[in-house]
Amino acid sequence: MRRSLPKLQRLFNKRQTRKISDADGAGYLYAYVNNKEWKIGTTNDFFRRQKQWDKSCPDISRLWLPPIKVANRRRAESLAHLMLEIACINRPRTYCHLCRRKHVEKFLFTQSWTVAWITIIEPILLTAATA
Ligand SMILES: [Zn+2]
Repeated sequence: MRRSLPKLQRLFNKRQTRKISDADGAGYLYAYVNNKEWKIGTTNDFFRRQKQWDKSCPDISRLWLPPIKVANRRRAESLAHLMLEIACINRPRTYCHLCRRKHVEKFLFTQSWTVAWITIIEPILLTAATA
């Protein structure tokens, strides 16, 4: 379920003006796509996180995109999630049979993955990196 646009815009402004937490720090925004469902997360070690995912949820159709380096990964991730929620058609929370849990932080886009990445997702991640 997507939240309403005014609500998301309010949350975005609030998050953007919040002071950067001491617990925040440099890292990466990462993205993978699986059948038009995009997962966006953050990590301070991309290759470790990628291995964790591929081990805990071994999905052969998962496609990884190049990670984006950010100065404040938690802040960048929450801003990216809000912008993605505004842009997507749905935020599915579907049960995954591979790892037997519900995946969160997922965003559904109807475009092919190449079009979605080039025109929507990568620009949002780059914006979040410097917002
Ligand atoms: Zn899974």
